[in-house]
Amino acid sequence: MSHLRFDVVQDAFKKKAVEVEAPAQKPSEYFGSLVFDRKNMQKYLNEETFHRLTDCIDKGEALDRATADKVAEGMKNWALDHGVTHVSHWFQPLTEGTAEKHDSFMEYDGKGGMIEHFDGKSLAQQEPDASSFPNGGIRATFEARGYTAWDPTSPVFIQDDTLCIPTVFVSYTGEALDYKTPLKKAIKAINDAALPICQLFDPKVSKVFTYLGWEQEYFLVDEDLYAARPDLMLTGRTLMGHASSKNQQLDDHYFGAIPSRVSAFMREVEIAGYKLGIPLKTRHNEVAPNQFELAPIYGEANLANDQNQIMMNVMSRLARKHGFVVLFHEKPFEGINGSGKHNNWSLGTDTGTQLLAPGKDALGNLQFITFFVNVLAAVQKHNDLLKASIASATNAHRLGGHEAPPAIVSAFLGQTMTNVLKKLLTVASDTPIEIAGKKGKSIGLVEIPEIFVDNTDRNRTSPFAFTGNRFEFRATGSSANCAGTITTLNAAVAEQLIDFKAQVDAQMQAGKTMTTAVMDCLKPIIRSILDVICFDGNGYSEQWQQEAARRGLDTGTNVPKMFTCFTTPKAIDLFTRLGIFNEKELMARNEVKWETYSKKVQIEARMMGRMATNHIIPAGLTYQSRLLENINLMRKNFPEQYQTMASSAIHLVENISALISEIEERVNAMIEARKKANAIEDEYQKALAYHDIAESLIPIRTAIDSLEELTDNDIWPLPKYREILFIN
Ligand code: ADP
Ligand code: MG
Repeated sequence: MSHLRFDVVQDAFKKKAVEVEAPAQKPSEYFGSLVFDRKNMQKYLNEETFHRLTDCIDKGEALDRATADKVAEGMKNWALDHGVTHVSHWFQPLTEGTAEKHDSFMEYDGKGGMIEHFDGKSLAQQEPDASSFPNGGIRATFEARGYTAWDPTSPVFIQDDTLCIPTVFVSYTGEALDYKTPLKKAIKAINDAALPICQLFDPKVSKVFTYLGWEQEYFLVDEDLYAARPDLMLTGRTLMGHASSKNQQLDDHYFGAIPSRVSAFMREVEIAGYKLGIPLKTRHNEVAPNQFELAPIYGEANLANDQNQIMMNVMSRLARKHGFVVLFHEKPFEGINGSGKHNNWSLGTDTGTQLLAPGKDALGNLQFITFFVNVLAAVQKHNDLLKASIASATNAHRLGGHEAPPAIVSAFLGQTMTNVLKKLLTVASDTPIEIAGKKGKSIGLVEIPEIFVDNTDRNRTSPFAFTGNRFEFRATGSSANCAGTITTLNAAVAEQLIDFKAQVDAQMQAGKTMTTAVMDCLKPIIRSILDVICFDGNGYSEQWQQEAARRGLDTGTNVPKMFTCFTTPKAIDLFTRLGIFNEKELMARNEVKWETYSKKVQIEARMMGRMATNHIIPAGLTYQSRLLENINLMRKNFPEQYQTMASSAIHLVENISALISEIEERVNAMIEARKKANAIEDEYQKALAYHDIAESLIPIRTAIDSLEELTDNDIWPLPKYREILFIN
């Protein structure tokens, strides 16, 4: 057994970087070659079809059946030119990752032969046999009638031999069964709510976009070492493993060069991403050993989110070619940093204005402050929902732990913006907000310093930080679909903007000028957010937990409980009013979340039990027998002094016995608790029971890790942290 582990470690260590074949062209030349983008549309569609399709994409106009047929024909021809044989509706069900059902283009031609066929109907709609996707009971299994419908706003792309059509996934009765449907509704909700406010400042604005720039963190583990860890394989994280002597304390990984095997992997990932039209920009090492990050240039949120899902898939597949497995789990290793997915979020107009960045003049600055303050008010009002939107069984290990971010949503503004807001409270409401020139401060005016946009005054401990022209929501988990976050954030902000506009309208009707009305409405909100949601201090500190509770922010850490805030009257009112979810959908999605939570913990608990019984206790007993042999020999040869001479062996036997008994007892208790939990019908109550089971895994792990410390290295059956984390 022991030799297997050493062999695996040696082999993994000797692996060399895989040669990556660089395309002959520059990235800018092959960028988007596997996407049915406007360039390809123009090439493969006639002019009329092209215009109908772009009107459908840009203006939401319906496509008639005949045009859809022509679009499908063009897509098929483009796909055939790339050696594609299959087509798939690609969607984002309420599981992790994406789903596809491949059909070939093959059809009988009616003359005894075969042809490649694809028409508008198959492009627009498909009925995957989807009864086994989680749906929270909305769609009774016997109906099995979920269907996927083409989302023309996200480009069709090619993956290997398959033409992938991004789609929404909804039940026969119209309820959303996926992430994309509510995301699209929430993007529309913010457009509808923000537009009338933008038009107060600039009547030429006709559309407001939501932008998303994701930063994907991940770990890479050598695939042979991964295969030797059943817990990693089945749960995505290590359920046990003593901390390595060296981990991230030297900060050498973050500043170090990218290891050559990893950089070959990254290069190949980038080439694949560019072909798929994904503007990848940043790649680097992260804080923990073997942890890395990938980020593109931000884009429209629905598209950017699709691209994140595509990239996660591409990374998983390409990693194997390089002898790695990618871990997207939020906390694969105890004691070192976990992985998040920062969501850089902003709003912008079709006239090119960034609504969360200072403007060109006083009016533009007032518009900026209006959006800035209202976003914070929305986050304040729905801080519980935002937290629940990122909660999951896996992200729970990262939130509220000793490492980023805490299970409290607060906002970091930085000194500059805090000062601007405070200043606004002291001046007359019609005071112009200027960009400060190099001349320095002018008394009595509100000024945003010129260097502001480069402001890198950042607080890494804040889950929601203003970073110059956007907010960065950092609590999202690395394995999550960003849509959960963006849908909730957009909903909260849309509601706030609608209420704000109504207040401004009332004041203007009462005779105030627009700018005075806006500022008069902003002032009480500014007072409130400065008191409650805004916090620039250390978010990880003990005092903040207490202070946050005093401020009325949600500080709960129980994940199944967090989900209940999606069905409070406040949340139901929010989502139904905006047409994003109806009450039934909210209930159903919570059912899915509880069920997923319970299942994940159940898998971990089973795995923990089996590994304890089949790997860990046997290793402990083997070592114990060796020690006992040693003690027996001592007694035989030195009957007088053996107690002293074998004292360390005796001591070890005692400690190992105690640990083995503890592990066994705790595992048995955990199995009993699981039996009880499994008998619970109600998904919420069951998830609460599984929450306790998740907690009970912690002391089992502690005992196992202590045993690892005591046991002969030769006997230990699992690759250790020091072996998994430093080979790349
Ligand atoms: P850091 O790790 O320092 O936060 P990165 O450069 O890794 O920054 O990622 C920042 C992300 O924010 C990138 O995806 C970038 O494109 C995105 N971003 C920049 N400006 C905006 C904006 N206005 N709206 C949304 N995302 C933005
Ligand atoms: Mg970054």
